[in-house]
Amino acid sequence: LSEDPSFWKEHNVQVIIRLRPLSSSEISVQGHSKCVRQESCQTITWTGHPESRFTFDHVADETVSQEKIFKVSGLPMVDNCMGGYNSCMFAYGQTGSGKTHTMLGDIEEGTRRHSVNCGMTPRVFEYLFSRIQKEKEVRKDEKIKFTCKCSFLEIYNEQILDLLDPSSTNLQIREDVKKGVYVENLKEIEVASARDVLQQLIQGAANRKVAATNMNRASSRSHSVFTCIIESKWESQGVIHHRFARLHLVDLAGSERQKSSGAEGERLKEATNINKSLSTLGLVIMNLVSISNGKAHHVPYRDSKLTFLLQDSLGGNSKTIIIANISPSLCCSLETLSTLKFAQRAK
Ligand code: ADP
Ligand code: MG
Repeated sequence: LSEDPSFWKEHNVQVIIRLRPLSSSEISVQGHSKCVRQESCQTITWTGHPESRFTFDHVADETVSQEKIFKVSGLPMVDNCMGGYNSCMFAYGQTGSGKTHTMLGDIEEGTRRHSVNCGMTPRVFEYLFSRIQKEKEVRKDEKIKFTCKCSFLEIYNEQILDLLDPSSTNLQIREDVKKGVYVENLKEIEVASARDVLQQLIQGAANRKVAATNMNRASSRSHSVFTCIIESKWESQGVIHHRFARLHLVDLAGSERQKSSGAEGERLKEATNINKSLSTLGLVIMNLVSISNGKAHHVPYRDSKLTFLLQDSLGGNSKTIIIANISPSLCCSLETLSTLKFAQRAK
C-alpha cells in the first residue's frame, strides 16, 4: 500500500478494496481456494468465469494490518478535517466481509493504545486528539480553541434512530441556510479525548443491538453513521476566525442482494429500502467522480436518507473514502464480484 500524501490532492474519492482472511470453517469445507487473486497493490482479479480484472487506489490483502489501513485512509481524512473540510468514510460489503472489523475492530481493546486489532474509529480519534493537542501548543498565541461533538445514528428502513438516545426514533432531516443539512433533535455529546469517543461508541453499539433485537431484525440491515463535528476558533491580528468540519464514519448495511421476490409487507419494504439506499449512494459517488472529471450530472442526494444526510460532506472540497470489504471464499464469489463492480463504478 502506498502512503503518498499527494494522492489526496488530486482525488476527492478514494476506493480501497480490503480482503478478509478465509475463516477456519471455510478452509475446512473448501481448502484454501479463493475467488480472487491479487495482482498488485492496486489490481485484483476475480477468478470466476469469465475472469475479470479490477484496478483501484489500493488493494489490501488479508495480511494488511489495521494500522496500515488507518494510515492510508483515516490519517489523511483527519488531516483534511483539521484543514476545515468535511470527510466521509464508508465501509461497504456483504455481511461477514469485514466492515465492522474495519470500522471498529476490537473496541474494548482499543481503550489500550497500540492494540493490533483495534479498528479505524478508535485510531481516527486517537490521531485527531493528538493533532488538536499539537495545534494548541503551536498556536498558543492565537488562543486556539477546539470543540468536538459527536453523534451516532442508525438508518433502518429509511427511518433515523438516535443511538445515543434510543428513545428518539424517526428523527427528521432538516435543511437550514446557516446550519446546512442536519438531523433535528439528534443528541450531540461533547468529547475531549479518544476515550470519551469510545465510551459513546460502545454505548451506541449496545443500543443498536437492543434496537435490532426489539424489532426482530439483524443489525446488518441498517446503516450506522458516527459523526464528529470539529469546531475551532482562534484570534489573529485582532480578528476572530472560525473553522468547522464534519467527519463521518459509516458502517453500511450488508450489500448482499436483498430478495424482494417472495417477501411481503415489512420485509419487502426493508429489502427495497436497502437496495435503494445503496444504489443511490453508488450513483451519488459515481456522479461526484464524473463532476470532478468535468462532466456535470444531476446528483440524486435526496433519493435516500443516507445521501441526503451526508449531502454537505459529499462533493465540493470534501473527501470520500470507500473501503469495499470482500470475502475471498468461493461461496461468496458472486457477492464479491458485485462488490468489486460497485467499487469500480466509484472510480
Ligand atoms: P461485517 O461487519 O461486514 O458483517 P465483520 O467485521 O463482522 O463483518 O467480520 C466477519 C468476521 O470476519 C469477524 O469474525 C471478523 O473478526 C472477521 N474478519 C473480518 N475482516 C478481518 C480481517 N481483515 N482480519 C481478520 N479477521 C477479520
Ligand atoms: Mg457488521
